[in-house]
Amino acid sequence: MTVHTLDTGLFKLDGGAMFGVVPKSLWHKLNPADENNMCTWAMRCLLIEDGQRLILVDNGIGDKQDQKFRGHFYLHGDDTLEKSLRRLGFTAADITDVLLTHLHFDHCGGSVVRTSDDKLQLAFPNATYWSNQNHWDWAVTPNAREKASFLKENILPIQESGHLRFLDPAAGSAPAELPCFREIILADGHTEKMMVPVLDYKGRTLAFMADLLPSAGHVPLPYVMGYDMRPLITLEEKERVLRRAADENWVLVLEHDAHTECITVQHTEKGVRVADTLRLTDL
Ligand SMILES: [Zn+2]
Repeated sequence: MTVHTLDTGLFKLDGGAMFGVVPKSLWHKLNPADENNMCTWAMRCLLIEDGQRLILVDNGIGDKQDQKFRGHFYLHGDDTLEKSLRRLGFTAADITDVLLTHLHFDHCGGSVVRTSDDKLQLAFPNATYWSNQNHWDWAVTPNAREKASFLKENILPIQESGHLRFLDPAAGSAPAELPCFREIILADGHTEKMMVPVLDYKGRTLAFMADLLPSAGHVPLPYVMGYDMRPLITLEEKERVLRRAADENWVLVLEHDAHTECITVQHTEKGVRVADTLRLTDL
C-alpha cells in the first residue's frame, strides 16, 4: 500500500470562526490574519494505492462554483486536485473509491463537475462514493446553521448517479467494504457522523483528521471551531483521539493546515501538544 497527500488549493476562512471562543491574541501568532481577519487554509486530501484500488479521501472545494462564491473564500494557490493526481501519474478515471469524511463543500466539492453544457456529473466516473446513512440524511435536510455548508450541487448528483453507498463503521474494526482502513472513527461534534479514517502504514498508524483537528493550531482542547455543531462533544472526541495518538505515536494528517502536512503529538503537563511536524514522504 502507498499513501499520498494531495493538495487541492488554498482558501480563506474567518480566523475567529475557525477558533471559536479562543481570542485572536492567542490564535493569530500561529495563524496570522489578513486585513479582513481571514486566515489561509489548505484543502489536503489523501490518496491510497491499495492493490487494484485507488481510494481518494475527500476532494477539496472543486471548481464549479461561481465567481461570487469563490470571492467569499478567496480560492488561491497553484494546486488543483487534477494537477496533484497527474503529478502522481493518475487521472480522475483511475479512482475506484471516494470516501467523503463529511459533505461540507470544502471536503466534497470536487466530487461533482459542471460540464460545458451546464450539466452536473461525477468527477470520478468509475468510483464508488462512500458516506454513511446518518450523515447523508443530516446533509440533505440541513439545519439553518449548517445549511450554507451543504450545497445540493455537491451532494444530490452523487445519489442520482447510482454510485453512492453507505458505510456502517463499527468502532475498532475495519469496514468490510474498504479494508485498507483499520478503523473509521465516527465523530459527532463537528457535524453528524463525520468519518475519520485510520490506517496502518509503514509500521505507523495514520489518521486523516478531517475537521476533528483541522490544523496544528487546534491541538489544545479549547481550540474548537465556531463552525462545530456540538462543541462540547468535539472536546470529548478530540481528547480521546489525541490521547490515543500520543500513547501510540500516531501520525495525524491535517486537512486544513496550510503549512503543516502531518504532526505527531505527545503528553505534556498542559495536556496533549504537538511533538513533531512531518510530511508523509518522511515515513
Ligand atoms: Zn466541515
